[in-house]
Amino acid sequence: MRIPDPSFSPHDGLNKALELLASPSCDVVELPFTLPESGLGDKRVLEMLSGHVLGKAARLGSPTSLAHMDPPTPWITWAMALWNASLNQNMLHEMTSPFGAQAEARVLSWLVPYFGMEGGHFCAGSTIANLTGIWAARDAVGIKKVVASQAAHLSVEKACRLLGLDFVKVAVDRKGRLDCNRLPNLDDACLVLTAGATVTGAVDPLDLVGAAKWTHVDAAWAGPLRLSRSHSGILDGIEAADSVAVSAHKWFFQPKDSALVMFRNLDIANAAISFGGDYLSKPNVGVQGSRSAAAISLLATFLAWGREGMAQRLDHLMQMADSLADAIEKSDHLELWGRPQTAINVFRPTYSSTAELVKALPPGMLSTCVLDGQTWARSVAANPLVDMDLVVERILAASREDA
Ligand SMILES: *Cc1c(COP(=O)(O)O)cnc(C)c1O
Repeated sequence: MRIPDPSFSPHDGLNKALELLASPSCDVVELPFTLPESGLGDKRVLEMLSGHVLGKAARLGSPTSLAHMDPPTPWITWAMALWNASLNQNMLHEMTSPFGAQAEARVLSWLVPYFGMEGGHFCAGSTIANLTGIWAARDAVGIKKVVASQAAHLSVEKACRLLGLDFVKVAVDRKGRLDCNRLPNLDDACLVLTAGATVTGAVDPLDLVGAAKWTHVDAAWAGPLRLSRSHSGILDGIEAADSVAVSAHKWFFQPKDSALVMFRNLDIANAAISFGGDYLSKPNVGVQGSRSAAAISLLATFLAWGREGMAQRLDHLMQMADSLADAIEKSDHLELWGRPQTAINVFRPTYSSTAELVKALPPGMLSTCVLDGQTWARSVAANPLVDMDLVVERILAASREDA
């Protein structure tokens, strides 16, 4: 290989990549079936892949995109992702990530007070954040079982399996919240409360925080509402939790893989989840070893938008979800499962099947879910660019046609 190797230097090919991002090529070139013996060259590959990667992806910022918790991402995060990829800092080694470590500390110091926490770290998602919180609970205070509602995210049960802990599922009430009257003894338990259940957006009663030996709040979805003056009250009580998980790649509009796990008592938690190693200058905290500087992207977003800019987008999405709920409630052709608690609507057609309704609408508009054995349509307001008037119009029209 020639030195310098141009594949590792800044290149005008990056401009080409930006051009294609703005207008992806429509031709979809067949990919080689076997590993190519000789390379096709960087620029040729950009062209070849743009039709696939850019052309075939779901458009999460489209005016009708409302199906999932995955948001479109602001362009400042694309820039940070590019810088991060080019530098490839590793948060495991402070030497390779002097600014990454500072960025993570700074953005955490901004956010932890909203959750009553002392500190924490970034990780690849709330699946990992939940595992980390429950791991800390097991090894810091010796909990023996995990108690959560039947609507808790599957990552909670996964964590129990990995950690060898019993998992006790508690029924939910009519609004999808953990039913306080069905709780087992919590003296030796980690209670996991969900703030924004994945299917319904329900928030478990957070006045239960502190009722168990350790309380972990899975705020993967609704955690960011803490930054909204109008909606932070939905999460009141979270500040007394022992640990909290928030997915930044959901309602903080970050590219994957970005989430936070936070602890009320950082020293106690970190002591339980840290490993030293001869080759490490500081202990490795948490589940992951090598880890990206994803915090830089969240730092950039908060610098660009401020708390207010973040809150405005969340408030807008809460309002969009409410206006959809109003329209569903008014319609004779649709049944609303319940008022949205955290911008998720669950509903179904009165006179036809949910599957037919969803099929009649643009792909990516609605997802489906099963509640009490029935199939429902589900919308998640994660997309600030959604055109809710258009969405309402399409849903109402489809529900009338189906009837
Ligand atoms: C999405 C979600 C998770 C898992 O988070 P990932 O970031 O996808 O790993 C956990 N809990 C809840 C309530 C969620 O909505």
